[in-house]
Amino acid sequence: MISETDNVKKLKPYNPPTASRLGKMRLDFNENTLGPSPRVLAAIKSVSAERLSAYPEYSELTKAIADYNNVAPENAVPFNGSDEAIRGCIECFAGNGKIVIPTPSFAMFYFYAELQGAKIVKPLYNEDLSFPTKKVLSEIRGSKAVILCNPNNPTATGIPEKDLIEIIKACQKENCIAIVDEAYSEFTKETIAGRIGEFDNLVVLKTFSKAMGLGGMRIGYALGNETLIATLKKAKSPYSITALSALAATEALKDTAYMRDYVKKVEKGRSILEKFLDEKGVKRFPSKSNFLVARFGRNAKAIAENLKEKGFLVRDRSDYERLEGCVRISIGTQEQMEKFCGALDKTRGELRESEKSGN
Ligand code: PMP
Repeated sequence: MISETDNVKKLKPYNPPTASRLGKMRLDFNENTLGPSPRVLAAIKSVSAERLSAYPEYSELTKAIADYNNVAPENAVPFNGSDEAIRGCIECFAGNGKIVIPTPSFAMFYFYAELQGAKIVKPLYNEDLSFPTKKVLSEIRGSKAVILCNPNNPTATGIPEKDLIEIIKACQKENCIAIVDEAYSEFTKETIAGRIGEFDNLVVLKTFSKAMGLGGMRIGYALGNETLIATLKKAKSPYSITALSALAATEALKDTAYMRDYVKKVEKGRSILEKFLDEKGVKRFPSKSNFLVARFGRNAKAIAENLKEKGFLVRDRSDYERLEGCVRISIGTQEQMEKFCGALDKTRGELRESEKSGN
């Protein structure tokens, strides 16, 4: 009989609720709620047969990514989503060694670490969801990798730059890779990518899935010094990004004004949502990104389910440590958030009524 390898045997399947989402207001995966630049759609519609029949090549995309991040092409490598980049970093630099993942954080960090049979250490975020710098520093000894998600999914909270640098330096002394996941850096407008030349143990990961609106195209990338990037390239599947995705991402980078405009829309949307939650006395945690965490207490699950019936998708995170009773809400435009707040108000009213009547 065929048996699974030990690491796969131990792996819990990751089943994100991706079915039947189209047509609803998708505030559950931190996506761009309007979609990519029209330039991207136009390029896809007029793609040539030749481009589809030839194996993909990535030099134009790599150059565009490098220019966008003010680094050289040797400092950048595109991946099939930053998921594949996370996998690559763990495979190349950590293997089954000790990996520090400040927790709670993005599910794929644990998933790929488990797949490698790594020893995962999980320093907990502080109660106010601020970053647990001291706890992380105390765990670096003997580690092969530390994963720093900035801002963190799902908490939406950031890591102070001073602390980030302190941790990267501490990792350097231990020959430990610091993987800084900046999936949401377009929203925060903060990035450590400019410092990859200073540290031989720093890899920064970014994605086209969030502000750029290309979640369905599966494209992300890693930035780092030439040696680290050469290693990631060596171990990567050579054609893991489709030609169509490479085209889409290259076009998106020709229209960053569109993305910046979307970021402004999200900032307005965030104010609407924050004001609403504050007025209703719902505890919320700080965010500079396109999602935030709000605490609804024991009703969290029911709120997410009731909103779904109304066509609004959010992510119940109440079973995550530190996020007891919390829901993660992605943020869209002002108009979308006004609609969402109306639905949330109705949902809360309905739940209050049904509690009163004892249902
Ligand atoms: N990192 C973080 C922090 C994320 O939240 C996500 C998406 N939820 C990813 C990486 C994965 O992005 P991609 O679609 O590029 O694989």
